[in-house]
Amino acid sequence: MRRRNLLVSLSAVALIAAVTERDTLEQAVRETVTRFAGQAAVSNMSSLVAENNERGLAAAELITLPISVTEVASGIFQASGVGNSFAVTTRDGNVIFDTGLIIQASEQVTKLKALIGDAEPQKIILSHSHADHVGGTRLWDRGQAELIAHEEFEEEQRYLTELNPYLHQRNRVLFPWIPESPRTLVGMNFRGLIPDTRVRNGEPYRFSLGGRRFEVHAMPGAEGADNVVLWLPDEKILLSGDFFGPQFPQFPNIFTMRGEKVRKPIEYIASLNTLLALEPEVILPSHLAPIRGAENIAADMRKIRDAVQYVHDETVAGMNAGYSLETVMAEIALPKDLTLSQSHGKVSWAVKSIWEYYATWFHFDRTSELYPTSQRAILADVARLIDLEAAQLQVRTYLNDAQPEKALLLLELLEGSRASETLRALRTQTLLQLKQQAEPLGNDYELYWLDSELEKLQ
Ligand SMILES: [Zn+2]
Repeated sequence: MRRRNLLVSLSAVALIAAVTERDTLEQAVRETVTRFAGQAAVSNMSSLVAENNERGLAAAELITLPISVTEVASGIFQASGVGNSFAVTTRDGNVIFDTGLIIQASEQVTKLKALIGDAEPQKIILSHSHADHVGGTRLWDRGQAELIAHEEFEEEQRYLTELNPYLHQRNRVLFPWIPESPRTLVGMNFRGLIPDTRVRNGEPYRFSLGGRRFEVHAMPGAEGADNVVLWLPDEKILLSGDFFGPQFPQFPNIFTMRGEKVRKPIEYIASLNTLLALEPEVILPSHLAPIRGAENIAADMRKIRDAVQYVHDETVAGMNAGYSLETVMAEIALPKDLTLSQSHGKVSWAVKSIWEYYATWFHFDRTSELYPTSQRAILADVARLIDLEAAQLQVRTYLNDAQPEKALLLLELLEGSRASETLRALRTQTLLQLKQQAEPLGNDYELYWLDSELEKLQ
């Protein structure tokens, strides 16, 4: 990997050192900063978990779990973490696949090196640009390793970096345990990576090392346009990165609540077809544990593919039949034989994002969609005109009929009214009822959002 960005970010430190020792010093600073910042974050997270704050803690808990290294297949080592990092060893050097979250990366690197040795890896492959997959790249790379990523990697990295303040604030609503502002410590910068080899869609990058054959396949779709997977054809092992999301199988996150670019459903289906043709016997995902068994894997991949295809086709049929977006969102449901966990991706939100992917933001519904004046602008007038008592009674009626979505709409119209205990109580009840209705499906993001809204009322 070229060192340009590293040199820029560490220039202040590098000036102190003799030129010949620059790289070693940079590496030492980076390792130290990353290790201490990581330890601080983990102890901070541990006290949060101990305080028993229930909100969005699944990932926080994952951070506090000790990092362990396991040989998950012959000569393939997995360092656990929020994002797993893998070392595929060969007699002529090693290949690293994904480098974890920055605050865990130092420990992952140290523990992997204890087993595979200190030599710089020959290749570092990054499954995509998300923070939990690229954090330790600069800890591994000493300037000789070949960095391999998708050709869209730099563009995805660019927009995630440029929009980081915006994305960070949104993430903090959903995950209240993350730091208040993005990390700016010199050694903590994990962005600005420049791949040496860029993998294009439909053109796998193949190489052999120390008797092992490797193929890096572009897999655009679920977690962004820049996904790649590593395929070991002789062993039928698939290092899937985040292609399937945090669980396997599950309905994919075609939409992200935190607000990333749209993900293309048809590309995702095509990627699944490519994976099916490979017939993997083992999946080593970058989240959670390995999955084994060719038959289960094929059946589950087919189910994911068919579920996405079904939701896509039904959405398109609804659009062509002239239904409103709200109607198709309410009516499209997975058939029984395609039922999948929606804890990560929610079908009705996939419908909305497929609709907007094709037709963008104007739903051809209300003329006011065209103008920047929102409903908020008239709420004070609504408050003056409305019979508040009668409106509150109607909210109660909706809640008694278990129609919290209608109660919510009416409450949003009442937001110009003076705050009162009654309105606050009605809003709380509405959110609790929405939460109760959301629980059987268990979509994490919906529950995180409702919890954050409930917290605002306390
Ligand atoms: Zn991830």
